[in-house]
Formats: sequence, structure tokens, C-alpha cells
Amino acid sequence: MGCSISLSTPDSEDHVAMNASRCPICNKSGSDSTFDHSYMPFCSRRCADVDLGRWLQEDYRIPGPPAEQPESSDDE
Ligand SMILES: [Zn+2]
Repeated sequence: MGCSISLSTPDSEDHVAMNASRCPICNKSGSDSTFDHSYMPFCSRRCADVDLGRWLQEDYRIPGPPAEQPESSDDE
């Protein structure tokens, strides 16, 4: 009886992607070298501008009356 089982701790690489935030615009990983964290959660000012533009577009979208669709022709 000399079975010494060496318990080698498995290198779990799961913790690596724990704090990996992603850019909501281009989905770039926060661990990317080109990820500019000064524009969090965006990876760059460009992506931040894109998001801002989207919000502005939403703001500009004025709720107008529903366009009437003349699908029923009134001819007797
Ligand atoms: Zn981005």
C-alpha cells in the first residue's frame, strides 16, 4: 500500500473571465489591450459616441399618429 495520490490542483481558468467586461457596442472584451477603460463600459470614445448617438436617435423619434393604411377600398 503505497498509493500516494498526488492531488494536483487543477488550474481553473474560469476566474480569468470573471471581471471581463465587454463593450456593449462592439462586444470587445475588457481584457483586450486596446480596451480604453476611461470610457467604461465602452472600449473607446468611438463606441461611447455610437451609444450616445443611439440615445439621441431615440429622443428624436417623435411619436406621430399611425399612418392610415388604405387597405379597404370603398367602392360599391
Ligand atoms: Zn467598443
